[in-house]
Amino acid sequence: MPDWKVPLADVRVTEEDIAAVADTYRSGWLSMGPRTTAFEEAFASYVGVGHAFAVSSGTAALHLMCLAADLGPDDEVLVPSMTFVATANAIRYTGATPVFVDITGVDKPWMSVAGCERAVTGRTRAILYVDYGGHAGDLEELVALADGHGLVMLQDAAHAIGGTLHARQVGAFGLASAYSFFSNKNLAIGEGGMVVTDDARVAERIRVLRSHGMTTLSWDRHRGHATTYDVVALGFNYRIDEPRAALGTRRLARLDDDNALRHEIDLRYRSRLEEHVHCAMPARDGVQSSHHIFTIVLPPGVDRAGFRVELASSGVQTSIHYPPVHRFAIHSDGNPELPLTDQYAERTVTLPLFAHMTAAQQDLVIDAVIGALAEARRP
Ligand SMILES: *Cc1c(COP(=O)(O)O)cnc(C)c1O
Repeated sequence: MPDWKVPLADVRVTEEDIAAVADTYRSGWLSMGPRTTAFEEAFASYVGVGHAFAVSSGTAALHLMCLAADLGPDDEVLVPSMTFVATANAIRYTGATPVFVDITGVDKPWMSVAGCERAVTGRTRAILYVDYGGHAGDLEELVALADGHGLVMLQDAAHAIGGTLHARQVGAFGLASAYSFFSNKNLAIGEGGMVVTDDARVAERIRVLRSHGMTTLSWDRHRGHATTYDVVALGFNYRIDEPRAALGTRRLARLDDDNALRHEIDLRYRSRLEEHVHCAMPARDGVQSSHHIFTIVLPPGVDRAGFRVELASSGVQTSIHYPPVHRFAIHSDGNPELPLTDQYAERTVTLPLFAHMTAAQQDLVIDAVIGALAEARRP
């Protein structure tokens, strides 16, 4: 691995975090148990919903959410192509068909409400929205559209933990939302995810499907609260374990502070870069982003690969969020026209962003970006 001066993302685990995890290893119980329950309770209360289920990954969270919403082979689900592939895969796991919808603009990489409106057919059952970068985008308008057409509103909130719309957590909108705790996410525990919902029936389905469709858990039996079980659904093993749940609870407690630092870094990028290059995800009234990523959109014709090599040579790691899903071999059936998605996918670059990034690190990125742009513009 190259020795980046500024990596794209960076996780900092404190000594207290490590002590909490070590305690778990000494506790005599490692699989899903009391620490998982504590994490779920803290998470549900943070998001402001009735139920939260910790699972093994964000992808597992998406899968359970789609199953609990009763998606199946007759259904179409509106979904952006400008997302990580797991969003669309989760729809396909249920037998339903993802219908890819274009983004709103080249600097607004979230699913277009007008595009959704045009894509609704008699088979459309649900909308699976992605809060791209942690910005709610046009979530409010989309919830209204879903209500108007009687569609189920679901969210992939993998980027959006801590992001709000009118001071309410974005994950609290719609029937259910899925989060990820993968290493590069705002709340990173390695691997893990969470599904949240206010709907008791959806909650019960998730509870059962998470652990083999069984009616009792090993933890209940360990405590003598149950002696046997029935299996009532074709479930999965999507459980999380206690060490990761313990780390999750600790990180959740400082998430708002981390996101506030991300906010400052985002503002500083904008103030220094805006005169040189388009910065995506502009501020919108009522929307507080979680600032999962910071993306710029290069002018048309700039050699992006060359630009990224320039940055890498200055020690700055960059990425692309994302290669569009509708261009992947397994998702390319139907071949929809998504011109804005294609343009954004060709021109976007993700710059480093993490809570404890220093001003010196950020200056290095900003200077490298300005230098590489000047280089790219030289005839
Ligand atoms: C990270 C991510 C996922 C998948 O989460 P995992 O925890 O890696 O399974 C899904 N959707 C989006 C938008 C993501 O960023």
